[in-house]
Amino acid sequence: MSKTLAEKILSEKSGTDAKAGDIVIAKVDLSFVQDTTGPLTVRQFQSSGMGKLANAKKTILFIDHAAPSPNANLSNDHIFLRDFARKTGCILSEAGDGVCHQIVPESYARPGDVIVGADSHTVTAGGLGAFATGMGSSDVAVAMGLGKNWFRVPETFKIEVSGNFPKGVYPKDLILHLIGLIGADGATYKSLEFSGSTIKKMSMSGRFTIANMAVEAGAKVGLFASDETTQEFLKAQGRGKDYKALAADADAIYEKVIKIKANELEPTVSKPHTVDNTALASELEGTKIQQVVIGTCTNGRLEDLAVAAGILKGKQPAKTVRLIIAPASRRVLLDAIEAGYIQIFVESGAMILPPGCGPCLGLHQGALGDGEACLSTANRNFEGRMGNPKSFIYLGSPATAAASAIAGEITDPREVM
Ligand code: SF4
Repeated sequence: MSKTLAEKILSEKSGTDAKAGDIVIAKVDLSFVQDTTGPLTVRQFQSSGMGKLANAKKTILFIDHAAPSPNANLSNDHIFLRDFARKTGCILSEAGDGVCHQIVPESYARPGDVIVGADSHTVTAGGLGAFATGMGSSDVAVAMGLGKNWFRVPETFKIEVSGNFPKGVYPKDLILHLIGLIGADGATYKSLEFSGSTIKKMSMSGRFTIANMAVEAGAKVGLFASDETTQEFLKAQGRGKDYKALAADADAIYEKVIKIKANELEPTVSKPHTVDNTALASELEGTKIQQVVIGTCTNGRLEDLAVAAGILKGKQPAKTVRLIIAPASRRVLLDAIEAGYIQIFVESGAMILPPGCGPCLGLHQGALGDGEACLSTANRNFEGRMGNPKSFIYLGSPATAAASAIAGEITDPREVM
């Protein structure tokens, strides 16, 4: 039977001829938790009676959401996770190393892997062809203990993107456009499989941004075939041997095909308080903002910082705007220092946060005040997401964020590029 990417991966990992709608038990190649979901997952693992981790070297605990810790309770959670890592020999990614969804693709994920994480944006690793998905704590605890779990094989929407992005338009604009088109529940439990000439030319950074946000349309996974770009990315991480060619069959069966012309896209923004509440950046001009965040697991990679630095070089954010930069990982931070981007940001008056989630989830490092608005490169703008239900979050690309920081209001980046 001809297969989609999801069917191919789950067939191989379950040893069955898996097709959409089937329930399979599949081998899990990597399980991980982060510091807000980890303590519960670990306690469930401990109380399950499974005793031992299936593979300690394929189990990772990330301290990234509250890193460094803003309060004693979270510090105690960190102590608990460190203790579990020490006793079991599993991998601990410490505060300052970076966001789980950056480090997993950088250092662990391989095309064709099945990856489960106790965090919804685990889907990010789909950018290199891994069936990566978020699960609840008890399901991740099962994967940690047994090295396998059950999955319903998702139906697939093929998202075919053709043409070149116009100047000032980026993969973030594409995924915001798609979510605006199909809605926040438009792909519930589907696999979104991205293909077409635009995707073929897209960098890994862009693919990760898109895969990261697949879950914002309700998708189980966001998948990309692996190709030369994937291979080059893995080689650059010193993991060339992890490459495996992976593509859907030409006559695979899709529940739906959505075609998008990249050349018709414009800088796009999600308005408060849902991701599918999209508008063009040009339609929102005049909307004042008090904070801009460039970073997170969606757009905190080197390529994102390069775009922002290109716009901010020699310029300053408006006096009414606080500009926060949060590199997604230590490696990104080091590369951004070497490339001179951090110097540009600091000279422009930005604040540089340690690698991690930063203010994305409202725990620390940039909570908003009453009535304040933020333009963020993150993936969620739900009410209260950045620590205050009386604030407003807009989502956009790093270019839109940098241009808006300078103007002090939402700005189409093409005006300053
Ligand atoms: Fe979640 Fe934001 Fe951290 Fe990404 S950066 S893992 S969306 S809190």
